Amino acid sequence: MDIKFSADDLAFRDEVREFFATEYDADAAQQASGDSGEAYKASVIAWQKKLHAKGWIAPGWPVEYGGTDWTPTQKFIYETERGLAGIPDVIPFGLKMVAPVIYTFGNEEQKARFLPRILESEDWWCQGYSEPGAGSDLASLNTTADYAGDHYIVNGRKIWTTYAQYADWIFCLVRTSKGMRKQEGISFLLIDMKTPGITVKPIVTIDGNHSLNEVLFEDVAVPTENLIGEQDKGWTYAKALLAHERTGMAEVADSTRMLEKLKQRASVEVNGGKAMIDDPIFQTRLSDIEMELMALEYTELRVFASMAAGGMPGPESSLLKIKGTEITQAIQELQLQLAAYYGGALPDDLDSQQLGHDFAFEARGKYMYGRAATIYGGSNEVQRNVIAKAVLGL
Ligand SMILES: Cc1cc2nc3c(=O)[nH]c(=O)nc-3n(C[C@H](O)[C@H](O)[C@H](O)COP(=O)(O)OP(=O)(O)OC[C@H]3O[C@@H](n4cnc5c(N)ncnc54)[C@H](O)[C@@H]3O)c2cc1C
Repeated sequence: MDIKFSADDLAFRDEVREFFATEYDADAAQQASGDSGEAYKASVIAWQKKLHAKGWIAPGWPVEYGGTDWTPTQKFIYETERGLAGIPDVIPFGLKMVAPVIYTFGNEEQKARFLPRILESEDWWCQGYSEPGAGSDLASLNTTADYAGDHYIVNGRKIWTTYAQYADWIFCLVRTSKGMRKQEGISFLLIDMKTPGITVKPIVTIDGNHSLNEVLFEDVAVPTENLIGEQDKGWTYAKALLAHERTGMAEVADSTRMLEKLKQRASVEVNGGKAMIDDPIFQTRLSDIEMELMALEYTELRVFASMAAGGMPGPESSLLKIKGTEITQAIQELQLQLAAYYGGALPDDLDSQQLGHDFAFEARGKYMYGRAATIYGGSNEVQRNVIAKAVLGL
């Protein structure tokens, strides 16, 4: 593998660093991030609009639709610098999930109608895949869309729908036919969230935040022009989207930054009379994570090197997802350990933000919400099945 950066790559890296350092308002974003309401949405949109103005909002898209034409190495550099700078990724549902489906399988009207508004962050999208009885086994979904001339009538219930409370549009998998293999008879519909008959119910997670929702559909009329591709062929498009969802879940640079922060805190925090960094058990756990992260970084570089040489990521993306999320969770666990019992403060505790170490409240929230990383984007058990099938031929 050749991982040497060219002079052009290094110049690009400097440009990215400079842009992030001068344009991203970390304090404002930090303030808004604790909010589950409009302030958070506004802060995300403001940053995404800056990225769009720079031409960097959609590195993965083909140039003809507004992509950057970066090489795999440039994409790697961009992601690394973003993670090291502590800048959250763009909200994926529009830019990284539904957009690739629209430009790959949609018709010309759909492309012209939706893609520019996604690039400009004018429409906020959410993903309506999961249902109470259909998660890992997604093809068991029961939300129906009955064909009624120039529209479909949609009835059913989606769950775990991230940021549905902000969304202008939802892309949904719906059942349009029955009686065949369960993967057949599924269609891919784009639904305006303002359509009568849609109800969004909040689900507050254990960290006290509201990002998840149930979305209920009662006789919701959706124009047939909002169908992507062919009726009953949605499973093909849904699978393509899932491949996009999993790429980039290794988050090596984000973990590197978190680990660095952890070490700094462990050097100054005193629990039981000494700095945690001097505690042999803490040191051992820290070293284990560092080694795992280094191994993951090299694995990711190997994947990038093969993509730079024209290859496509295969089951490696499952491996990157498993190890990346496990490492993130291990770091979050150590953060919580560092916060000691102050990490037990609940969101409703009076002045909880002022209890103990100033990072304790955040450590608790990150640890709690972090449990989800091994579930979403295809659970890690399911990723292991993918590897077993593709690599071991089981
Ligand atoms: C924070 C968060 C955000 C989410 N956001 C969205 C969203 O925006 N839109 C959306 O559509 N969905 C979303 N999801 C849902 C997510 O995709 C599902 O939770 C996930 O697919 C797992 O499905 P499930 O929860 O029904 O669990 P199940 O599929 O019931 O799995 C339960 C357990 O069984 C294991 N398991 C299941 N099948 C197998 C198998 N074949 N082999 C081995 N083990 C197996 C799983 O790994 C898991 O441990 C989100 C989930 C979370 C946690």
